[in-house]
Amino acid sequence: MDCVFCKIISGEIPSKKLYEDDLCCAFYDANPQAQTHFLVVPKTHISSVSEITEETAPLVAHIFAVIPQLCKKLGLSGYRIINNCGASAGQTVMHLHFHVLSGPTLGERLV
Ligand code: AMP
Ligand code: ZN
Repeated sequence: MDCVFCKIISGEIPSKKLYEDDLCCAFYDANPQAQTHFLVVPKTHISSVSEITEETAPLVAHIFAVIPQLCKKLGLSGYRIINNCGASAGQTVMHLHFHVLSGPTLGERLV
């Protein structure tokens, strides 16, 4: 499958990997939008949030258990988790991913 994140997971494309286990992988965003900006992705290819099912939802729960552990390890006291679902909402890579951003430029609330 021609998916950049599947290729990062398989090691075909290099990345700055932060964390990996059987179910998910975290790596730094190539185009950071904050002092700290990494992505957490399931190892299984799921295109977007709209493709999550009852069967795959535990993967998302796992990702949300991993994120606070990683943030704690990085010493981040505050962070923002973002998901863009669908091209019209700005999703450019069609493999489910959660952005985790942290740093002094996040002062403004978006919602
Ligand atoms: P989104 O626009 O929500 O689909 O986010 C895709 C993100 O993936 C963007 O923030 C890109 O900077 C990031 N990205 C694309 N290619 C790579 C790559 N090879 N390594 C790390 N991050 C990437
Ligand atoms: Zn993929």
